Amino acid sequence: MTVNNKAETPKLVDRFGRSVDYVRISVTDRCDFRCVYCMSEQMKFLPREQVLSLEEIEQVARAFVELGVTKIRLTGGEPLVRRGIDQLLHKLGRLQGLNELVLTTNGSQLTKLSEEMKAAGVKRINVSLDSLREERFNRITRTGKLNQVLAGIDEAIRVGFERIKLNAVIMKGRNDDEVLDLVNFARQKGIDISFIEEMPLGNIEHERQETYCSSDEVRALIEPHYALTSASDRTAGPSKYYRMADSDCRIGFISPHSHNFCHECNRVRVTVEGRLLLCLGNEHSMDLMSVLRHHPGDLDRLKQTIIDAMDLKPEKHEFDLEAEPQIIRFMNMTGG
Ligand code: SAM
Ligand code: SF4
Repeated sequence: MTVNNKAETPKLVDRFGRSVDYVRISVTDRCDFRCVYCMSEQMKFLPREQVLSLEEIEQVARAFVELGVTKIRLTGGEPLVRRGIDQLLHKLGRLQGLNELVLTTNGSQLTKLSEEMKAAGVKRINVSLDSLREERFNRITRTGKLNQVLAGIDEAIRVGFERIKLNAVIMKGRNDDEVLDLVNFARQKGIDISFIEEMPLGNIEHERQETYCSSDEVRALIEPHYALTSASDRTAGPSKYYRMADSDCRIGFISPHSHNFCHECNRVRVTVEGRLLLCLGNEHSMDLMSVLRHHPGDLDRLKQTIIDAMDLKPEKHEFDLEAEPQIIRFMNMTGG
């Protein structure tokens, strides 16, 4: 496929016939938290010149939207600690053809930024929350403050995003006894919740095979209390959703280990260094930063590079908790 100027929107399609219409862009590798499953205690962050500028991120987003992408998720690191994020959101919110501008956050800045995000056109947000107990929240996030995040969630509810979803990574012996409390919290707030299986991305301090908790195990903790029926609604993401009889809240499970969803993968990622990553669990990538920096303003070249990269998208990922981490990059670099 080559870039052309025909009226119809070109589609990004890989070798296995999967259309890509969803991009996750990591806008920073930095974060005000140091979650134990995501970062090591002594994280080193990239020098500024190795990180895409806000203008470069906007160009990447524009190229994808012109290639038929309809959904963009900004993530990181913590996207809301990047200076100028509010202006970027406003620019992306105006891109013709982009139906959904969404964001994943740790919630720490939501009291300050929710209004601005909503005004920019952000429709849905995911907020990570792994514990409702202050001391434990502190142990998992190392530097996070629970009250700040809870206030942020309340502010997000107040400004009225179309949908708010909590994301919780459940770890054995760390927070698996809070699964039900987290479900009840979501029910009480009238928001959704997804449980994520821990993935072996980056070298961290704990043994992941000891903390790994499968989606089936999490589900088994919920089902004695709430019968779960499979929800027919699909989203563009990897969550499999369930409903409870007496609530509008949905419970999702993101199961990269136990329920492989690669066959329906419709997304790619752009790392903070401008690497177009074709699969979360593989290293296949294309360097967009060099195109942006060697050919500034050449949107057609950028689009052609993205089209060519589709041939690199692998069929599926394999995660092996027993082996040495195959993926050295951390989740904050990749964009979760
Ligand atoms: N800082 C934001 C946040 O925490 O929501 C956005 C970036 S974070 C990398 C995105 C999501 O990835 C979060 O929900 C986080 O819990 C999840 N995550 C990070 N490391 C993970 C890992 N090793 N396995 C599974 N999920 C992980
Ligand atoms: Fe920061 Fe999000 Fe990683 Fe936690 S999961 S350290 S909040 S990027």
